[in-house]
Amino acid sequence: MPGIVVVGAQWGDEGKGKVVDLLTQQADIVARFQGGNNAGHTVMFEDKTFVVHLIPSGVFWENKIAVLGNGVVVDPAALLDEVAQLRKAGVRVEDNLKVSDAANVVMPYHKAFDQFREALRGPGKIGTTGRGIGPAYEDKMARRGVRFSDFNPRMEKPFRVRLEQILEEKNFLLRNHFRSEEKPFVLDEVYERFRSLYARVEPYLCDTPALLNDALDAGKTVLFEGAQGTGLDVDHGTYPYVTSSSTTAGGACTGCGIGPTHITKVIGIAKAYTTRVGEGPFPTELAGTAIGEFLQKRGQEIGATTGRVRRCGWFDAVLVRESVRLNGMTAMAVMKLDVLDSLETLKIAVGYKDEEGNTYDRIPHWMGSYPDRLTPVYEEMPGWNTTIRGISRYEDLPANTRAYLERISELCGVPLMLVSTGPRREETIMLEGMS
Ligand code: GDP
Repeated sequence: MPGIVVVGAQWGDEGKGKVVDLLTQQADIVARFQGGNNAGHTVMFEDKTFVVHLIPSGVFWENKIAVLGNGVVVDPAALLDEVAQLRKAGVRVEDNLKVSDAANVVMPYHKAFDQFREALRGPGKIGTTGRGIGPAYEDKMARRGVRFSDFNPRMEKPFRVRLEQILEEKNFLLRNHFRSEEKPFVLDEVYERFRSLYARVEPYLCDTPALLNDALDAGKTVLFEGAQGTGLDVDHGTYPYVTSSSTTAGGACTGCGIGPTHITKVIGIAKAYTTRVGEGPFPTELAGTAIGEFLQKRGQEIGATTGRVRRCGWFDAVLVRESVRLNGMTAMAVMKLDVLDSLETLKIAVGYKDEEGNTYDRIPHWMGSYPDRLTPVYEEMPGWNTTIRGISRYEDLPANTRAYLERISELCGVPLMLVSTGPRREETIMLEGMS
């Protein structure tokens, strides 16, 4: 009854898409448990590159089921757009896609709130993608969210009454707090739009906790696909520069309605260096340096969802070690190792220090509140100065590359199960623990 969780070990964009895609071969179901269409996975399929924001990459495989769990917030229009795009490219999206009827819906006012709130934050902005994900989670926690299961096309009145109350408050806040000069949300319009989107999403809706528990009980393999990364977890990340959901492995249980006893493996994905999108602390950042620019260019570090250029820096073993513990990680995949090919020297952060000379071997919880107080303590290693692109056997890697990987594994306290040497499926070194 294996339940395998895949999570990002850094601040997202680690290359989870490629690993999930590879692991999907062994799975029957791929389920997402948090986030919304603010995530973005790049998958290469039949020589074409796809970026999926909402639908799990399991959809690209024959005979696999892709699930959006109850912990995901779903923008129905974005979901339908993605379905249409995939179908146009020849990908089958029919009864192989299941969407939790208990998932909260991203409503049109959530996008308006996201944009107004970020604009009000001014210089203190947290770098949201503006797609209404944060406000949808806020409403979920405040118990004024809308779930697909709240709506019954044969019994519309209670839903309309609820929506009316919600809109009254939203319009009040938009007008009086955000000073919006835009037209208020009109009940009939919001209702009609929801009704028509619901009708198109309905074929995919189901009780996904029941589906997943039945599958696990029947001995099927479920891959739980995390979005974003551990450093962005609402509890354990660099708060307040975090996303609004639980990106760590525990989120797979609440976000899919399965018990922790079903989880047999937790695989963390880390890049061979570090990136971060948007604001927030990043001790190993190489801002304004030639190496930072090199990593950005060679690693093509531009957001799949936002098109924003990612900040780049050295591998941070403090961050990843913390991820190993917070997720109960059983193995790790190191991605984009080939990006480091031509660097003379590599640095790894093994600790932090503050202005008073205090040292830290763990991330203090105040790091998000004082983003510039900590600087890294580095260890240096020689680079390998040759291309490793496409190497698929560990023993074919140069000695310095192996030393770098082994040091990362040692510092983070986790065995490696996969090393990625290029974006393609076959540009991968599989290590022990893959089966
Ligand atoms: P995710 O959200 O964690 O899946 O990350 P992204 O979708 O942003 O994926 C990272 C990008 O890196 C994609 O364009 C991948 O094709 C690419 N990629 C993944 N693994 C490797 C690798 O080992 N080497 C290189 N050069 N690119 C990679």
